[in-house]
Amino acid sequence: MSAPLPADEPLICSSRGCRAPAQWALRWNNPRLHDADRRKTWLACADHRTSLGDFLDARGFLREVVPVTGSPTLEG
Ligand SMILES: [Zn+2]
Repeated sequence: MSAPLPADEPLICSSRGCRAPAQWALRWNNPRLHDADRRKTWLACADHRTSLGDFLDARGFLREVVPVTGSPTLEG
């Protein structure tokens, strides 16, 4: 399994208007729109991990939150 994140681009928080570097990847799935094994990814800085995560979790979409290091050496 390879992460669908672009390796050579800066990872920026997905929160509207936020330009902070992302530290977390929130992996989510809307069962009304997506196959069960599909994952959408939102990136979040430390400040927005909670707000974005709560948004998804309140809707039952949040599947996992994983750290984003930006390191190309990180595998598996
Ligand atoms: Zn942010």
